[in-house]
Amino acid sequence: MDAQLVDQEAVARAVDAIEKALGTDAVLRSRADLDEFRDPFWVLGSDDNDVAAAVMPASVEEVQAVVRIANEFKVPLWTVSTGRNYGYGGASPRVPGSILVNLSRMNRVLEVNSELGYAVVEPGVRWFDLVDVLEDHGGEWWSSIPDLGWGSVIGNSLEYGRGHTRIGSHAENVVGMEVVLPNGELMRTGMGAMEGNRAFHAYPFGFGPMVDGLFFQSNMGIVTQIGWRLMKRPEKYASCWVHFDGDEIIVPVIDAMRELMLDETINNYPFLGRGVAANAEGRPDLDPNSQKWALRFALYGYDEIVEAKWRIVERVLGAIAGVEIGHKMYDGTDRVGPLDGIHDDKVQAGIPGMELLDLYKVPFGPDTGHLDFSPVGPLIGAEVLKMIRMVRSMYEEFGEPYAAGCMLLPNSILVVSVMFFDPKDAEKTKRIYDNYDPMLKRIAAEGYGLYRSHIFKMDAVAATFDFNNHAYLRFVETIKDAVDPNGILQAGKQGIWPQKLRAQRGR
Ligand code: ADP
Repeated sequence: MDAQLVDQEAVARAVDAIEKALGTDAVLRSRADLDEFRDPFWVLGSDDNDVAAAVMPASVEEVQAVVRIANEFKVPLWTVSTGRNYGYGGASPRVPGSILVNLSRMNRVLEVNSELGYAVVEPGVRWFDLVDVLEDHGGEWWSSIPDLGWGSVIGNSLEYGRGHTRIGSHAENVVGMEVVLPNGELMRTGMGAMEGNRAFHAYPFGFGPMVDGLFFQSNMGIVTQIGWRLMKRPEKYASCWVHFDGDEIIVPVIDAMRELMLDETINNYPFLGRGVAANAEGRPDLDPNSQKWALRFALYGYDEIVEAKWRIVERVLGAIAGVEIGHKMYDGTDRVGPLDGIHDDKVQAGIPGMELLDLYKVPFGPDTGHLDFSPVGPLIGAEVLKMIRMVRSMYEEFGEPYAAGCMLLPNSILVVSVMFFDPKDAEKTKRIYDNYDPMLKRIAAEGYGLYRSHIFKMDAVAATFDFNNHAYLRFVETIKDAVDPNGILQAGKQGIWPQKLRAQRGR
């Protein structure tokens, strides 16, 4: 990245103007305050991706004011909701010296609709906050949640984050958005494009093209509100597991799971793992020679339905040689108490926690960093085994233990793997990030793309989406130039650069 990319004088004047508009307590400039926003998983103490200041608007009008000022001074902004995007850059901007727009003060749950099953949330609403509010409303509705409860509903969903309940495909739970556009204008999508529309968060489409997708993994706007689909609390919930030794058994297990998911016997999003948070005892297992795998999934519904589904699952999966299978049955009303501290059972019941973070600290202590490598493939047993072997062999080449956490959808799979390192060790940390490039090349050559990436790797990943000489990126950048002519928002995110900074691609 060019050192003089950002006009620091213009940034300083813009921050002054923002302070005038929002008040002094909405602006952080001191190094100590800003250190909090460094990527904790990059070389400890590095100033490589520092922000110039952080601004914290408390309302939509204040977000609009920030965007208008950024246009006036032509300075770059980088938006986060809570900035917990760990493993992908945290709150760090792609362009150093940007102004961080931190939305954590906009933390209201604006509505819980108990008849239709949705909530309306602002960007600062964390999973912990939303679930507390749902409990206060009687606990009749569950939210899907990711593994850690401290992040935000909006930040995670916009990144195509995932959970482990029946509604665990988070981007698909977003129904109706409110967005501050790069020119400062406020827009609502879907039915919300009509003033006072009664189905804004109930019906996902609108009249005309669906533009919601433009705000996922992108830099076309600042999302200030979304409708969020909830799941009705089931009468019973069975937390189920399958354990086996040896990579080969992945093939029949995956093929059986696909059938069970496509016929909706299993209708949550199962998780297949080895290594941290995935071994049978729920303890980290980074033995590079270990061949132990653990699959978990859930069944929900009325008592009789869950019982019947379990019998089918037991018959189908139990017939596979070499697998052990089991389940625990809960009432839908079992919350804190019966499920306390049991990460696997909690996440499938929409109870947020922080247990996984403790496990992730095991390899190198409290500062342990990790970088995720996450290719997507079709849910075909033989192909999943091929992908896992390919990724595992690269870990072996690098001399790193292979820890995997694969997320199953009914017909696809995210073959996520995790490289651990100690950010205090600068040389090793840089080597881990360098390992990523040959992995990306090899996996893309086989026809697999990544679902998400760290800010440092966004150009490289975007370059692998190369059909017809990168027609997709050309189209998206044409839109970017039209809606953000000054290139103020999230430059370089997902490899999408505004015209004036396009020469930065790949730097
Ligand atoms: P988390 O919920 O995990 O804390 P972050 O706040 O770190 O998530 O957001 C993850 C990424 O999603 C950010 O880097 C940013 O690119 C994007 N993002 C987050 N919130 C918004 C928002 N309100 N509008 C637009 N993009 C956002």
